[in-house]
Amino acid sequence: MAKPPKPTRASPARLIFGDLWEYDPAPETADPKLRARYELFINGEFVRPKAGKYFDSINPATERKLAEIALAGPADVDAAYRAATGAFKAWAALPGRERGKYLFRIARLLQDRAREFAVAETLDGGKPIKESRDFDVPMAAAHFFYHAGWADKLEYVAPGRTVAPVGVVGQVIPWNFPLLMLAWKLAPALAMGNCVVLKPAETTSITALKLAEILQDAGLPPGVVNFVTGAAATGAAVMGHPAAAKVAFTGSTEVGKAIMRQLAGTDRRMTMELGGKAANIVFDDAPLDQAVEGIVNGIFFNQGHVCCAGSRLLVQEGVAERVIAKLKARIRMLRVGDPLDKNTDLGAINSKAQLSTIRRLVAAGVREGATIYQPPVKLPEKGYYYPPTLFTHVTQSHRVAREEIFGPVLAILTFRTVDEAIEKANNTAYGLSAGVWTDKGSRILRMSTELKAGVVWANTFNRFDPASPFGGYKESGFGREGGRQGLLDYTSHA
Ligand code: NDP
Repeated sequence: MAKPPKPTRASPARLIFGDLWEYDPAPETADPKLRARYELFINGEFVRPKAGKYFDSINPATERKLAEIALAGPADVDAAYRAATGAFKAWAALPGRERGKYLFRIARLLQDRAREFAVAETLDGGKPIKESRDFDVPMAAAHFFYHAGWADKLEYVAPGRTVAPVGVVGQVIPWNFPLLMLAWKLAPALAMGNCVVLKPAETTSITALKLAEILQDAGLPPGVVNFVTGAAATGAAVMGHPAAAKVAFTGSTEVGKAIMRQLAGTDRRMTMELGGKAANIVFDDAPLDQAVEGIVNGIFFNQGHVCCAGSRLLVQEGVAERVIAKLKARIRMLRVGDPLDKNTDLGAINSKAQLSTIRRLVAAGVREGATIYQPPVKLPEKGYYYPPTLFTHVTQSHRVAREEIFGPVLAILTFRTVDEAIEKANNTAYGLSAGVWTDKGSRILRMSTELKAGVVWANTFNRFDPASPFGGYKESGFGREGGRQGLLDYTSHA
């Protein structure tokens, strides 16, 4: 007699995690060792600003004041450039291997204090602790290590040519990766033998000033690195100072253009790392679950405050419905809230001003006829928060498809053919990054050749390495950071 079939357990249609239990809070508790007041860092010392003015740095997760930061005026910027100019000759004359030792020391000291820096970065900027702990701080240390390794091999930066530092460099950085952008700017400049005057963003100065403590502990000669804190006027003074042989800027395209206008007609060398509106392109043969993880990482990493964020999803028509359904299910699981909680996926928006920019552009998306989706999330009552947001039925003329929102907002468009995907992806003023998801190697090669973007990720997104040059095309800027190419931008070679 035939055996009766074994009863099988019906598999659930989908696994629901978020509804089954409540997470206990898991706050990171390391002491960020903040000072109540931070001074300027000029000529190796913390000094009061000449006009005696300070501004508050706010924790965007709580809207509470974290510390007072010195406001640098033109006389302070002048003093910083004097210190840098005074230090340049001796610093440039050091053998590369000696400069490398300082960079190694800075990297190791940063590693020693990694947890403290991660907490400080999260408090000041609002990013989730798991990102500052696992990405920002280790990557910043990696940049110092990498460039320390270059310092005694500079003859290979431009083989067959004589390389030399450019002199004193003025640098201005944004608030989305405060410590990491600082490392991207400082490490190659120092390895090559340049001296630096740097301005961090107004809302996120603290980790730069904590790094100044490390520079002191590393015994870096006074004047080699100087930090002047403040807002746009301080930035303009740093960029426009006549003692700067080169300026390096990361921030919005609008301010980048203003700086280029300000410096037009001078012989100042420049590198600009500006905005982006990257296309993350999913073909119908892509591993869809993997692609969904890449899409989520591409747009929700650091609340979408990422110049190379995959803020436009281009998905092939045949799989669009499935991808969008998977994406909606996935973002329902994202945890938005206290950035210091180790379970948090999306922390606080960096500032009140940025939150209103995001709200304004999302309202424009709704007004222009795109369909909005936001999962049900309970946002904290205090602090600047925004839920993960998707827009479908987006056309290329919608503002959400054209403008850099710099927030957790994804615009979804569809395409049918490879040519259409390329056409739509390149139909933007920007050209910083792009992503391609497909099973076909030949298609990856074609896409990476035809996409006008400084970096093209294949079957992954938001991967960084100090050895890999990063930078833009078109209105995303010019010049490269990282790798040999990044060093060339801090070199004069004959
Ligand atoms: P900004 O470009 O204004 O800020 C970047 C840095 O430049 C900050 O340190 C800022 O100082 C400084 N700065 C501002 N004005 C001048 C100036 N005239 N001369 C020299 N330096 C200046 O970006 P925002 O913070 O205003 O953000 C606005 C938008 O820019 C965002 O919504 C986003 O779309 C985009 N953005 C893009 C970034 C990117 O990496 N692609 C990074 C940051 C912003 P301070 O902040 O202290 O005033």
